[in-house]
Amino acid sequence: MEKSPFGNDQAMAFSRLLSRPSKVVIVTHYRPDADALGSSLGLAGYLKKKGHQVSVITPSDFPGFLKWMPGSEGVSVVRKNNPATQQESESLIGSAEIIFCLDFSSLKRIETLEEPVRKASAIKVMIDHHLEPEKFAEYELWDVKSASTAGLIFQLIEMLGDQHLIDPAIASCLYAGLMTDTGGFRHNNTGAREFEIAAKLTMAGAVPNQVASSVYDSNSINRLRLNGYVLLNKLTILKEFNTAYVCLTGEELDRFEAQTGDTEGLVNMGLSVEGVRMSVLMHDREGIVKISFRSSGDFSVNDLARKHFSGGGHRNASGGSSKESLEATLQRFIDLLPSYREFLTKN
Ligand code: 5GP
Ligand code: MN
Repeated sequence: MEKSPFGNDQAMAFSRLLSRPSKVVIVTHYRPDADALGSSLGLAGYLKKKGHQVSVITPSDFPGFLKWMPGSEGVSVVRKNNPATQQESESLIGSAEIIFCLDFSSLKRIETLEEPVRKASAIKVMIDHHLEPEKFAEYELWDVKSASTAGLIFQLIEMLGDQHLIDPAIASCLYAGLMTDTGGFRHNNTGAREFEIAAKLTMAGAVPNQVASSVYDSNSINRLRLNGYVLLNKLTILKEFNTAYVCLTGEELDRFEAQTGDTEGLVNMGLSVEGVRMSVLMHDREGIVKISFRSSGDFSVNDLARKHFSGGGHRNASGGSSKESLEATLQRFIDLLPSYREFLTKN
């Protein structure tokens, strides 16, 4: 196994923290992806086996292609149009003894749960792999070199000597996070460590083709048609800047009855065009423009997203948002490109 990213002291501290049954809350970021939800459900499954009382909370709904995950039916989902769901989550957070924050490291990313978590008296634990974390947790397992949070959860369980507790349900959830955050073991964050963890999860009962099929072969026909529409009519290439972008209005998303998660992956299509260094997807989400950035090589979309679009993430995959209109956001983005020309066009 590649060297563990955690020291002996950390192992001792976590071991002590989890040594007696506690009331545990696990929170994912807004609009959780497979890594956020998979690492949370995997950790929840493990902690339940250790005798803890565990609740998983998502600050928004999650994509339909993650509903196969064992335990997802029991998740407390905060729904915008249902204040009772916010209250229910606040009450779980208020009475928790330990709060795990998984796959994010800035409390802003949990939207309406930011203040409740900030104020909570519980011990906070942040486990994440994004750049430039906020300091809010007493315990941290933070490793930007890890391709996924799910991989960090696996390494935590292993470090605690509990690998034997990973059953097929836990293994499948963790494998899904690892598989998707590496883009199916294709991105430049994929190394020996990822394959080792994948192999161990497979030995523990994850079935790679079943997980892949559950995540990738559950498209609605509308989602596929949205893909087709984007490729045919919306994908724009700015050759001068080796940049691709797609802008989708709320009306267009409605036309294809887009559900949460349906735009995931669209941004990668732009990056697959030969020569493209940066790909961007902007879409209107109820008064706020949500932006996804992807890049290849040294060009850091994390810097761009952080500086100009209140966002962040990883060097080659980041997100952000804008309160301006879609047109104004796009114009601001295009106006920024000349200042990045050198980085976008150098060989
Ligand atoms: P996506 O484009 O798939 O939504 O996100 C790409 C990466 O950037 C993910 O790792 C995600 O967690 C992160 N990310 C997405 N949106 C935001 C944001 O608004 N702020 C920050 N800090 N990170 C984000
Ligand atoms: Mn992740």
